[in-house]
Amino acid sequence: MSTISTDTATPTQPVQAHTPAKRNNSIKILDEAHAKTNLLGMTQAQLADYFKSIGEKPFRATQVIKWIYQQGVTDFEQMTNLSKGLRDKLSANACVTPPKVIHRQYSDDGTRKWVFEVTGGSLVETVLIPADDSKINGRKTLCVSSQVGCALDCSFCSTGKQGFERDLSAAEILGQLWVANASYMTDDQDSLDGVDHSLWENNVTNVVMMGMGEPLLNYRPVVSSMELMLSDHAYGLSKRRVTLSTSGVVPKMYKLAQDIDVALAISLHAPNDELRNELVPINKKYPLAELIAAAKNYVHDVNPRHKKHVTIEYVMLDGVNDHDEHAHQLVTLLEGLPSKINLIPFNPFPHSGYDKSSNNRIHAFSNILSEAGFVCTIRQTRGDDIDAACGQLVGQVADRTRRSAAWQKSIKDREEA
Ligand code: SAH
Ligand code: SF4
Repeated sequence: MSTISTDTATPTQPVQAHTPAKRNNSIKILDEAHAKTNLLGMTQAQLADYFKSIGEKPFRATQVIKWIYQQGVTDFEQMTNLSKGLRDKLSANACVTPPKVIHRQYSDDGTRKWVFEVTGGSLVETVLIPADDSKINGRKTLCVSSQVGCALDCSFCSTGKQGFERDLSAAEILGQLWVANASYMTDDQDSLDGVDHSLWENNVTNVVMMGMGEPLLNYRPVVSSMELMLSDHAYGLSKRRVTLSTSGVVPKMYKLAQDIDVALAISLHAPNDELRNELVPINKKYPLAELIAAAKNYVHDVNPRHKKHVTIEYVMLDGVNDHDEHAHQLVTLLEGLPSKINLIPFNPFPHSGYDKSSNNRIHAFSNILSEAGFVCTIRQTRGDDIDAACGQLVGQVADRTRRSAAWQKSIKDREEA
């Protein structure tokens, strides 16, 4: 497999003249560069409030949401069912600005990765993984980031090693999906001008909040973004096709069950507290008994028709959590919790201190779980040529940027000498 395109992309939105924003104080989503209100990532209710605040009818929210998400339109002039007056007003006061793509890689097998530079210069990444048998309209899963870095410091995670920088806004979270879909529309051009909008059908079918960060620690923007993923006016994804992955922020799992109906994945990685405290430190705050109780609540107590199971993620670390004994403990731990288990071969990175379990070990572990009656899958690695665990591509791009900065400095020093 080889990389077919690696390049540095230009921002999708031209920088516009600074125009004083007329804004409602309750609307906090501002595009700093333009001092305009960024409508990307606003929920239907927020957008309706925005229209009211500029003296317009709230139903405009539905029209604009359809243009942004279903047609991929960012230029208000192209929103032809709005009056000329409203289009001018929006152009002066608002914008639809996704995060800036600074690096992208497309693999032969259809895997795509983007590195975004978000406000303040931080980098986050997004990965699109097509199913093995993905035909033109097959399953395409987007792995979306929710934070820059992560505070939870799981011992095997490259994002955790970077520490926490900041939360992403809803525009920055949903913007990752917007850009991935736009990449199908534009057929890898940098501009949306003159594209065939029917290509929009060829878009992302599944979203997993499994990129950088802990989504439940950036709760509001993540839930708002997922609302738009589910909304029929926006992306209209089925609730089975939007998955939130958490390392176990227990109080927020109860809140999530109240607020939105999406699929839940739990990053378990260990079947007992002693080992989990070591691998997933948040376990010291919310130990396994509390985590499993919160998962049962999510499955059973809220909308039992739809939440049939949780996905249990379990990274396979050689000699650490992959013994037969661990599989047996897992069977006992998960008793009474409808779950599917996803074994993830550890994705190594420099100085991690861990190795990937052998394929034989992973299969032996999987067999114990299957024999106990669990549906157990082993995650395939895709796009090997551009593969890296979430967070690693950002590291590489940042390294390159740092190297380039050092190189430029050395030239400047030489010039000045
Ligand atoms: N913070 C959330 C979501 C992001 S991490 C969570 O922890 O669930 C997404 C998944 O990737 C988690 O299951 C995480 O444990 C796993 N992961 C992190 N680093 C990994 C690595 N080096 N190899 C394989 N899986 C990894
Ligand atoms: Fe954070 Fe998830 Fe990585 Fe743990 S595995 S450090 S929670 S991103």
